[in-house]
Amino acid sequence: MTKSFILLGLVLALSNCTTTQSISLNTPQVTHVDLPDGVTIRIENNISENLVASVLRQDLPRLLEQTGHWGALSEDVIIRIHGSSSGFRDHVKQDHPGHLDGWATYRSIDVQSPRAAGVERWRDRLRQVVVHELTHVRFFQTVRLHVDWRQTDIPFWFVEGMAVYTAQTEQSRTDWRGLRRASNGLDLRLLLDPTPIVVQQQSRLAYTTAGVAFGEILALKGTKGIREIMGGLSNGETFTEVFRRVYDRSIGDILRSWGAQIGQDF
Ligand SMILES: [Zn+2]
Repeated sequence: MTKSFILLGLVLALSNCTTTQSISLNTPQVTHVDLPDGVTIRIENNISENLVASVLRQDLPRLLEQTGHWGALSEDVIIRIHGSSSGFRDHVKQDHPGHLDGWATYRSIDVQSPRAAGVERWRDRLRQVVVHELTHVRFFQTVRLHVDWRQTDIPFWFVEGMAVYTAQTEQSRTDWRGLRRASNGLDLRLLLDPTPIVVQQQSRLAYTTAGVAFGEILALKGTKGIREIMGGLSNGETFTEVFRRVYDRSIGDILRSWGAQIGQDF
């Protein structure tokens, strides 16, 4: 990740005659928020998104608190608010199959401005997206995961479920009963660990399923259990190993128990 940042910096330095490469070059709206633990959050935005950036600065303490369970930030984070989808797309993984509102790496969050996109109640959407992505950043930093998590054995339902669950309100959560109706007979295993095609075609359902799965795990041992999982991952255990150690059952067992709850036997 660090490497790609250095490369990106070079590209930007060499291309200052273009206008599409970087927010920081064409519209240098930059503010810093210093956190008590010595970490700085740098917010960059297009000038058209000054209002969105100022709302984010106001909301940031609350969003940091909402995600605080998942570990302290140990390194500076940059949050870029993009006024256009093309600017946003320049910063996210091009091979991601689904629709995206935000993108997180170890040290960065990119969001497409919900206000510029004409989203109603854009402040709520901004909060949701930033909480989702901030959850990812805290997770990546806590387990010291510099590579794309999809290159590890950490499942979609855990990484995305944590972010979905954290960004949801109590009222917006569903359970296996709700999913039984919504899933319409789709194999639960396919939703829990979706292929790119499934992410593309059943994005909402896959993310909702991940949120339910994460909530189930959280109900077993609370945030303590999740933190133990993260501790194991940061010490080099695989997800499969640490899951079995912390919850005293295999991932296969827990998946089967979830399948039973939506009427699927596997
Ligand atoms: Zn996510």
